[in-house]
Amino acid sequence: MSPSDAAAGAQPGGGDAGAGPRDGWRRDGFRDGLPHAGDASGDDERGELARARPALCVAIHDVAPATWPSCVRLLQAVRAVADIPLTWLVVPRFHDNPARSAACESTLDTLLAEGHELALHGYTHLDPAPQDGPLPSYLVRNVYTQREGEFSAIGTDEARRRIELGLGWFRQRGWCPAGFVAPAWLLGEAAWQALREYPFAYTTSYSRFYLLPGRRSVLAPALVYAARNRAGRLLSPPAVSLMATLLRGAPLVRLALHPRDAAHPALLRHAQRLLAHLLEAREPLTKSAFAARAGGRLTSTVPSIHPSPTDAVRSRRNTTDQSGHSHPWR
Ligand SMILES: [Zn+2]
Repeated sequence: MSPSDAAAGAQPGGGDAGAGPRDGWRRDGFRDGLPHAGDASGDDERGELARARPALCVAIHDVAPATWPSCVRLLQAVRAVADIPLTWLVVPRFHDNPARSAACESTLDTLLAEGHELALHGYTHLDPAPQDGPLPSYLVRNVYTQREGEFSAIGTDEARRRIELGLGWFRQRGWCPAGFVAPAWLLGEAAWQALREYPFAYTTSYSRFYLLPGRRSVLAPALVYAARNRAGRLLSPPAVSLMATLLRGAPLVRLALHPRDAAHPALLRHAQRLLAHLLEAREPLTKSAFAARAGGRLTSTVPSIHPSPTDAVRSRRNTTDQSGHSHPWR
């Protein structure tokens, strides 16, 4: 998970190609990668996107018992700037570890009740597919992401199985995810097909935010630090600052924080300054709230095995911004 993930992104094919970016959204979201000139340009100015206050979505990736202490440090760093709703990308069986953490789950319960969102972020966060394929794909899967692109190269059936496992894990906790984000933002075409069978309201690649099931998308490259190595820690903060400047007029800016960022105070300080700056002009929203505002599903229809009186409340909080926006940009 680094800016290099942009080199991979989603590589889906077929479908809704053809319509142009009328209001910053496009339906041909089947190529992906680096920002395309014009995606967030004049069309936005004329569209309804431009009439809404621009949004900021802050996500914490790779949430699991093993990463929980770091996730808490990220939360504390964000709250030192502002108590905003976050999107927590939860991995049910992170690195194939079935461990549970009462502290993690109870805190996520509390956060959900406070207006945060829990989204499904793969199942194991490990790429199980054979290490072959064309060289570019091989490099992305094995070098850039260190074989964590779980949904990059698997088939439709396997993607379906993993999504089912993840949803079942969420249901056991009374949670109802409105969004799915593939580990390392790598979603192969076969996995794309499986994903469309489920009533998620959105997914994201490194560079775009997709409404589901139609794949209408908007350019929104993730601002992300490369904390894995020293060069990345030195170079990614200025790169993030530059990208934030380039996205000044965009309807959505996404800040993606990873557990390993928490080990580097300089990265946290940069993220805090960036957050403070972005909040001067942007409304903090969960991703599901942004999807709802943008015309996606207002409520998830993912069924719950164990419905309870609180499930409805959780589901609502998890999927809408309670803002009264009813498909304003459709
Ligand atoms: Zn991840």
